Amino acid sequence: MAKRPSKHLRPARPLNQGGFARLVTKPDGEWMVQTMPAGNATKAYLCPGCQRQITAGAAHVVVWPRQASIGSGSAVAERRHWHTSCWARSN
Ligand SMILES: [Zn+2]
Repeated sequence: MAKRPSKHLRPARPLNQGGFARLVTKPDGEWMVQTMPAGNATKAYLCPGCQRQITAGAAHVVVWPRQASIGSGSAVAERRHWHTSCWARSN
């Protein structure tokens, strides 16, 4: 077996998309949350909260784990786009 890499020690960095990520602690872990203003939302995404589309041009939030999952290259690569209201309702 390969040695388990210590990637979970790597600190989270904010995305460079304007604004700063804030740390949110939820029952399932610590998450970095960054708001995506409408002007920066140029693509449509599928919201994991409701399985519906976040339309381009709609302000929403981008969420990723503070610590990368085991086996994941980086925490930021695990980011997900959520409707602001869906994220607020989760947990
Ligand atoms: Zn949603």
